[in-house]
This record gives sequence, C-alpha cells and structure tokens, in this order.
Amino acid sequence: RAKEQGRNTYQFYTEGMQDREVMRLELDKDLDQALANDEFVLYFQPQLDLNDSSINSVEALIRWKHPRRGLLPPIDFIPLAEESGRITDIGRWVVKAACRQLANWQNGPYANLRIAVNLSGRELDDEGIVDHIQETLEAHGVTADRLEVELTEEIFIQNIEHNLNQLSKLHKLGVHLAIDDFGVGYSSLGYLRDFPVDLLKIDRSFITDVTERHDDAVITRAVINLAHNLGIQVVAEGVETREQLNFLKNHRCDLIQGYFISRPVPAAELEQALSSGVLNVDTPVGT
Ligand code: C2E
Ligand code: MG
Ligand code: MG
Ligand code: MG
Repeated sequence: RAKEQGRNTYQFYTEGMQDREVMRLELDKDLDQALANDEFVLYFQPQLDLNDSSINSVEALIRWKHPRRGLLPPIDFIPLAEESGRITDIGRWVVKAACRQLANWQNGPYANLRIAVNLSGRELDDEGIVDHIQETLEAHGVTADRLEVELTEEIFIQNIEHNLNQLSKLHKLGVHLAIDDFGVGYSSLGYLRDFPVDLLKIDRSFITDVTERHDDAVITRAVINLAHNLGIQVVAEGVETREQLNFLKNHRCDLIQGYFISRPVPAAELEQALSSGVLNVDTPVGT
C-alpha cells in the first residue's frame, strides 16, 4: 500500500517499519525466556480514598526488566504476548506475584491494602484462570476480598456468555470486579445491569481536561451519578493536579489514582512512601 504512494513514502515507511518489525520479532523471541528468567516485575500505584484520605488499594502494573532494553512498559509486550498466546502464562504469573505480595503485607502495617490486577479479554478466555486465582489465593493464605480484577469493556462485546460465567464465579469467590478505562469502549450500558460490577474506573481521557472542558465535566459527573445509583464505586484515572482532585472530591468521586498521588513504583518504594506519609494528600471538604 505504501509502495503505491511513491518512492519517498515507501522508503520512509519501510525504514520505520523495519525497525519496529525487527524489535517486535526480537521481543517476541525474548518473551520466551522472560518468565523462566524471572524478568517481570509488578509496580504498584496507590488509589486515594477521597472520603478519608486513606489508601486501601493499589493497582499492579507489569513491567519487563529486559536484559538489554531496560525496563519496558506493558504496551511494548502485552499486545505481543496476546498474539502469541503467552499472555496466559504471564497473566497467571501476575496473579501469583500479587498474591505473594498480599501474603507478604498480611501481618504488617500494610495489611489493609488490596491489589488490583489487570486481566485482558484474552486472559479471561483461559478456562482455568478462575480456578488458578482461587488456588493461588488459598496457597498464599489470602482472602479473595484482598484481590480486585480490572477488565476493559472489550469483554462485554465478545464471548459474552463465557465472560459472564467467569466473572460470576470470580464475584462469588469474593474478588472485587472493576471496569477499567470506562467510557472509551464500544459496549452498551446494559452490561452494568447484567454483570456483577463493584467499581468503575473513569478513563483518563475524561479526567485530563475535566476542570477546563464543560463536556468532560458533564460526562464525569454523569458517570459518577450513574455508578452511585447502581451501587457501584467510582475511581478517576490519571489525576495529575490538585484542581482535578478538588473537582472529583466535590462531585463525590470515591477514589482517585494518578501521578498527583504517585506514579507506579516498586513495592519497596510504595512501602516507603506509605510509611513516610508523603501519600497523605489532604482532601478538604468541597464547596
Ligand atoms: P491501565 O490499567 O488503564 O493502567 C493505567 C495506566 O496509566 C498505567 O500505564 C499507568 O502508569 C498510567 N497512569 C497512571 N496515572 C497516570 C497519570 O496521572 N497520567 C498519565 N499520563 N498516566 C498515568 P502502564 O503501566 O504503562 O500500563 C498501561 C496499560 O497496560 C494498563 O492500562 C493496562 O491496560 C495494561 N497492563 C498493565 N499491567 C498489566 C498486566 O499485568 N496484565 C495485562 N493484561 N495488562 C496490563
Ligand atoms: Mg487498570
Ligand atoms: Mg485504565
Ligand atoms: Mg488504560
């Protein structure tokens, strides 16, 4: 296709494409060894409860300590892992690492913390994932209510019956269910009626300009009200400023997550931040 657009376009296109294609193939090959070599690590990003300024949950975000390329974000390898099917094993590792961390926190000053893990539609396809979650929780002596699973709206478009069944089982175990990136998917609202949802995470794209743009403000307020009327809690993603925090607090958003509170950090750094009090962000009562 690029070829037809003329020589310059063609060269420009292939150069960039070759680089990316080479990197893709390399990473795909390296992914083979990554699990065995213990190259994945979970970073944790705290969620601030706007009601009492406490932190009771953190989201686990995977990183790949690549032997030559350094620390890679999920966008560089999760899509690849989904294509090759390796995502199933990676997802199981994430669950295990999260349970290990919960067990580690269980009897200390961070025993109140819940961990949210991200599960893609492809991972939910894995017939054994619910059993794996249950067994892993039990093996680590962790109760299911310590664990939260974040799903994006894609799971309400395909394989609906299978996904509903999987989520019902998870919910019955006591695992909390969150809808991630809410508002940017292509699904209908009907699933909020049919699926056992505990939390909605408003996508960052609505939050970025929420204090400047009337439409974003209207949508954000509407989502908060919709969720609350359905008995669902709301998390705002990507909060980067005090103004955004104040807006969300004033409109009764339950929790916020974003660089304003903390970037995702390794467990040791999170513990340090929690105990030093730097995360005790003050949330005054609004007007
Ligand atoms: P997500 O679950 O929506 O995670 C939020 C993303 O936004 C994270 O990017 C986080 O670092 C970033 N973020 C948080 N606060 C802010 C902020 O204030 N400003 C900005 N600009 N960004 C913020 P990250 O860690 O690169 O993860 C990207 C996506 O990769 C995640 O989006 C999630 O969909 C996926 N992902 C991460 N970990 C896993 C995993 O273990 N399994 C699977 N299947 N997917 C994962
Ligand atoms: Mg998430
Ligand atoms: Mg999200
Ligand atoms: Mg996202």
